[in-house]
Amino acid sequence: MASIKIINDKCVGCRLCVSACPFGAIEMNDDRKAVILDNCTLCGICVPSCNFNAIDFQKEEVSNAVDTTLYKGVWIFAEQKKDEPESIAYELLGVGRTLADDRNTSLTAVLMGKSLDEAGKKLISQGADKVMIVEDDSLAHYNDESYTDIFVQLIEQNKPEIILIGATTYGRSLAPRIASRINTGLTADCTKLEIDPEDGKLLQTRPAFGGNLMATIICPNHRPQMATVRHKVMKEMEPDESRKGEIIKPEVNIPKDLKINVKDVVATITEKVSLTEADIIVSGGRGMGDPKNFILIKELADILGGAVGASRAAVDAEWIEYNHQVGQTGQTVGPKVYFACGISGAIQHLAGMSSSDTIIAINKNPEAPIFKVAKLGIVGDVMEILPLLIKEFKTALG
Ligand SMILES: Cc1cc2nc3c(=O)[nH]c(=O)nc-3n(C[C@H](O)[C@H](O)[C@H](O)COP(=O)(O)OP(=O)(O)OC[C@H]3O[C@@H](n4cnc5c(N)ncnc54)[C@H](O)[C@@H]3O)c2cc1C
Ligand code: SF4
Ligand code: SF4
Repeated sequence: MASIKIINDKCVGCRLCVSACPFGAIEMNDDRKAVILDNCTLCGICVPSCNFNAIDFQKEEVSNAVDTTLYKGVWIFAEQKKDEPESIAYELLGVGRTLADDRNTSLTAVLMGKSLDEAGKKLISQGADKVMIVEDDSLAHYNDESYTDIFVQLIEQNKPEIILIGATTYGRSLAPRIASRINTGLTADCTKLEIDPEDGKLLQTRPAFGGNLMATIICPNHRPQMATVRHKVMKEMEPDESRKGEIIKPEVNIPKDLKINVKDVVATITEKVSLTEADIIVSGGRGMGDPKNFILIKELADILGGAVGASRAAVDAEWIEYNHQVGQTGQTVGPKVYFACGISGAIQHLAGMSSSDTIIAINKNPEAPIFKVAKLGIVGDVMEILPLLIKEFKTALG
């Protein structure tokens, strides 16, 4: 068990540790000595802040660490729909390629479905050295139970060093199941992945504390190092049909007698254009004033062939369903054009859309933070501006 204590003889009362502790778990006593409080999480962040070596921090000894040298190779989970790889698979290959090159190792895509040879070739053309294909009628649609079971069998057979999975609905369900089965760590929703040049470990960076700071997390004692990666954050490689790779069909037990059976997969009625895939998104916030005004958002999105997004305030007010929410606790999007209509631009909203190529903001408050990230800003009432835009685009686009 880790432990922390202040060495009173060394503490000079400088208070540096008090401001360093993100949990407010250090205070000064009447003798101007630091005191560790009960809410200390033993994170160790305060230790380097003390220039007087007055914080005695003992790390927990890890008893079940694995031999990390036995694990080799970078893997990505290639999510598919109707046996076609989803775009997240190509994004994972993009970042996975860099990681594999930095580790001087191979990049493998794991693909499960019904009939996957064509999909395998596409994955090779976009960066995979190997594609490990498991085909069965029962794997046509994602299934928590069978996908987890097969993935775990593949890990046990091959011992990969790094596994990347999309932070999609399926990926967020699959990754923790695998991590807990193989007793390793998992960093969710990464926005940056790099190899530490010093020791070759995976540096997994993700927003923390409501998006106010970025935390870099490592998995020092267990393998594989697992991360989920947000959609539209990593860049795909350009396809190169001349790339050579290997398609492998490993021997695995396809689980039968499943407790979960997927009968059918139906798209939601609102999912005309998928939010995460859309090139154009028109989003509405609390500034839309009333749920019925969202018709303007939908109309503009339809004219432009785009998708409808929303701020959490609009979702919380039940003006629109949660699957339209953009932001830290909603979807991460990266369209070519993002219209923010009556959205203030809170940091949690920006966390989900700031990588959009062009942000166009409509807001009646010229001081609204959304204008700081917008390329084009329109100061005015959405109820006046949106009908004008709809009219103009209707005329321009015929
Ligand atoms: C842990 C956590 C997670 C969160 N996750 C998310 C998330 O995923 N996504 C998200 O969006 N938020 C998230 N939030 C909430 C976030 O902090 C904001 O509260 C939210 O984004 C505000 O939504 P809004 O911009 O629509 O509303 P407001 O902040 O109320 O802004 C409304 C804007 O509309 C403008 N306006 C008003 N009337 C008009 C008009 N007639 N014409 C033009 N402009 C007008 C106003 O000037 C204002 O700028 C999260 C918060 C927390 C604490
Ligand atoms: S930083 Fe070190 S010396 Fe300063 S108050 Fe904290 S424990 Fe004491
Ligand atoms: S170990 Fe972490 S939580 Fe505990 S006092 Fe230090 S910074 Fe605060």
